[in-house]
Amino acid sequence: MLDADAMDVAMTKKLLEEYDLGVTLSLGLSAEEDFSSGTPESREIGEAKLKKVVSMGAELGVTHVCGILYSALQKYNEPASAAGLQQSVDVLGSVCELAKANDIMIGLEVVNRYETNIANTAAQGVELCKMIGASNVKVHLDTYHMNIEEDDAKLAIIETGDYLGYFHIGESHRGYLGSGSIDFDSIFRGLAKANYTGPITFESFSSEVVNEQLSNTLGIWRNLWTDSSDLCEHALQYMRAHVRSAAALEAFNVPLSDSFS
Ligand code: MN
Repeated sequence: MLDADAMDVAMTKKLLEEYDLGVTLSLGLSAEEDFSSGTPESREIGEAKLKKVVSMGAELGVTHVCGILYSALQKYNEPASAAGLQQSVDVLGSVCELAKANDIMIGLEVVNRYETNIANTAAQGVELCKMIGASNVKVHLDTYHMNIEEDDAKLAIIETGDYLGYFHIGESHRGYLGSGSIDFDSIFRGLAKANYTGPITFESFSSEVVNEQLSNTLGIWRNLWTDSSDLCEHALQYMRAHVRSAAALEAFNVPLSDSFS
């Protein structure tokens, strides 16, 4: 929803029904919409944008609106200010109220240091949720970012516990699952141990199919795939197999390795 005006809500709704698909809306704020800057102008623009996205989500029947909703999706050259952070908390409190009236959960995506200066770790995400204090605001974790920032991704998932509301599965280079360096056995054990029952979404990028603005912001300079159907089919099988393996290990009480027991 970087460009919310580009979505034809009625047509999208019709297609979702036709193909029996669920939908989640996600976005990161633009520099202009970035109310974490603390300016009144950005608050006006950013709050209106998020409320518009939540309203579009309500029309589509979404259950979750996710992403970098507390700052811009960009590299910052200085830390967030206390006043800016407070403004983000205030705006999100108000956005959560609108979302709650429409049975929508707000997921704050924790991303790496090059994409925000506010929430880089799961623990910071939980802290942000506590500051906002709404019952429908949750932490949204992503293995690609966790691989950069967390000491122990599995432990971070377990410690996030009930605050975990949305989960992105992405490889270390954002290509085919299993072809990078992330230990997905451990990630799925963490999700099982945390009794996580929310959505698990595969995320991968190639400039072949991704919106040019987003592709450039994320630094997709080399494409690891071109066939999106093959990529998705593989990811779904891979994730289902891992969910089943992790559930079996939990059922037989197989201990988690090393740092957690
Ligand atoms: Mn993500």
